[in-house]
Amino acid sequence: MVWKPSEKEEEYFARVEFERKKKVEEEKHRKLKEEDKKRLKELHYMRCPKCGMELIEIDCKGIKVDKCSECEGVWLDAGELEAISKFEKTGLDKLFSVFKK
Ligand SMILES: [Zn+2]
Repeated sequence: MVWKPSEKEEEYFARVEFERKKKVEEEKHRKLKEEDKKRLKELHYMRCPKCGMELIEIDCKGIKVDKCSECEGVWLDAGELEAISKFEKTGLDKLFSVFKK
């Protein structure tokens, strides 16, 4: 029998991995000077993290999602992924149908 991790375990490991990476990033952030942080924010605010083009904010069922005007990547702010995951599947389909051409 092949052992398959349950969804809960996968979620746990994903969270552990996230926390580990977050710590590394937090250490980097501590080393950055305040001016550097400000400059970086000005440079990247509402810009696509992948291609650098402008993001367009779309309001979908009260959740503000940012969509790239170039590569059409979709980015979520803090808490939005959790809000979306609370949707029922039909709600999710409706939400993502917005992004389909
Ligand atoms: Zn993009």
